[in-house]
Amino acid sequence: MDYNVLVEKDLRYLWHPFTQMSDYASRPPLIIERGEGIYLIDVHGRRYIDGVSSLWVNIHGHRRPEIDRAIKSQLDRIAHSTMLGIANVPAILLAEKLVEKTPEPLTRVFFSDNGSTAMEIALKMAYQYWVNRGVKGKSRFVSLVNAYHGDTIGAVSVGGIDLFHAVYRPLLFPAYHAPSPYCYRCPLGKAYPSCALACLRELERIVDEHQDEVIGIVSESAVQGAAGMIVMPDGYMRGLREIADKYGVLLILDEVAMGFGRTGRMWACEHEGAWPDIMAISKGITNGYLPLAATLTTEEVYSSFLGDYTKTFYHGHSYTGNPLGCVAALANLEIFEKDRTLEALVPKIRRLSQWLEEFRRLDFVGDVRQKGLVAGIELVSDRETKSPFPREEAVGFQVVYKAREMGVVIRPLGDVMVVMPPLVISVKELDRLMEVIYVCVKEVTERQ
Ligand SMILES: *Cc1c(COP(=O)(O)O)cnc(C)c1O
Repeated sequence: MDYNVLVEKDLRYLWHPFTQMSDYASRPPLIIERGEGIYLIDVHGRRYIDGVSSLWVNIHGHRRPEIDRAIKSQLDRIAHSTMLGIANVPAILLAEKLVEKTPEPLTRVFFSDNGSTAMEIALKMAYQYWVNRGVKGKSRFVSLVNAYHGDTIGAVSVGGIDLFHAVYRPLLFPAYHAPSPYCYRCPLGKAYPSCALACLRELERIVDEHQDEVIGIVSESAVQGAAGMIVMPDGYMRGLREIADKYGVLLILDEVAMGFGRTGRMWACEHEGAWPDIMAISKGITNGYLPLAATLTTEEVYSSFLGDYTKTFYHGHSYTGNPLGCVAALANLEIFEKDRTLEALVPKIRRLSQWLEEFRRLDFVGDVRQKGLVAGIELVSDRETKSPFPREEAVGFQVVYKAREMGVVIRPLGDVMVVMPPLVISVKELDRLMEVIYVCVKEVTERQ
C-alpha cells in the first residue's frame, strides 16, 4: 500500500503508546513492513538496525525459521483454547521447560499475556499467600523509587517513575518506596562502595519498621530498566534476598526486561544468586512473536492456594496459555541451546564495554551503565553539575531521529540513550550500531 495512504490512516486512526500524539504528526512516521535478522525494513524498503530489539523483546532476530515453523505447525492443530480448568499441549510442555530453566526454587508457572499482567498476578498472589496462610495485616509492598513494573494499576502502584505514574496517584494503592540504587545520582548523596549500600540499609529500615504489614519486596532484577538502565551496584540483589529472609517476607522479582539472557546470564538474578519467591517474565519469552508472559512461584507459595474454594486464585485472562505463544516460546528456548546464545554473548558484551569507554570521553555524556548486552548512556548539559538538558529540547529524541536517517532504530528514556540490540547481533553489526549512536550523540549534544 502507498506510503502516503498509510500515513494518512495512521494519523487518522491510531493512538500510539508512550507517544505525545500532538508531536507524532510533525515528522514522517516510520512504518515497518518486514524484518530480517536484526533488521527492520520499512515500506520504502529501507533497512534499519533494530537497536532496541523492538522494545526489548527480540532475542534471536526477526523471522527465525524455527519459530515461524513452530507457529505454522501449531496453526494446523489449534490456535487457542482456554486454560480455565482444562489444559493444552504447548502450555504443559512450556511450563515444564520454564521450571527447568528458571532458578531452582521456582516450581510453578502461571501464564498471562504481558509483563504488566505477570506483575499484577505476582502482587495478587503475594497478597493472597499471606491471607491463605491466615496471617493478618499484610497489606503493603516495599518497592523502589524509579521502579517500572508495567502500566496496569497494581503495577503502577509499586512503580516509582513520576513522569509516568504521578498523575494516577489518587487511583493507586499505597506502597513503601525505598531509595533507588542510582549511584550516578545517589539519592542519599553517597558514593559506592564507601556507602556500604546505604540505600539497601534504608530499605531494610522500612521493612523493619513495617514488618507486620509488609507482604514482600518488589524489585526489577539487576537493572531498573525504564528509569534509564540504572544498574544496581554489586551486592544489592543479594542484599534484597537477605533482607527478605531476615524478616520472613517474599521477594518478588521482575525479570520482564532482563530475563532471557539480556544481562549475560539467562536470568539477571543469577549473578548474585538472589532467588525470588515469585518471578515475572515476559518480553523475551517468544522472541517478540506473540504476547505471552508467566509468573513463576515456589512450591511454598503455590501450596498455600490448595484447599477449599476461598483459597483459589481467582485470576485469569482469556488468552492465558495461548498455544501459539507457547510453541513460539518453546522454539525460542531451543534456539538458546542450538545457537549457544549465552556463550556467543561474551565477545559482544566486551565490545559494548569498549564502546562505552569511548562514549565516556564525550563532553556531554555524564554516565554510562552496562549489564551484559544492555547499556544506558546518560546525556547531561554539564558534566560537573550533572544538570540535564532542558526537557523541551528533547535531546534524546533528537539523537533518535538523526540515527534513523543513518539506518538505526533506537528509543531513548528521557536523555538516556538505550542500547539493547537483539542478542543475535554480530560484533560487526554492534560496531555499526554503536558508531551511529556515537556520531549522533556527538553531533546533537555539541550543537546544543
Ligand atoms: C516492559 C516491562 C514491564 C511491562 O511489560 P508489558 O509487556 O509492556 O506490559 C514490566 N516490568 C518491566 C521491568 C518491564 O521492562
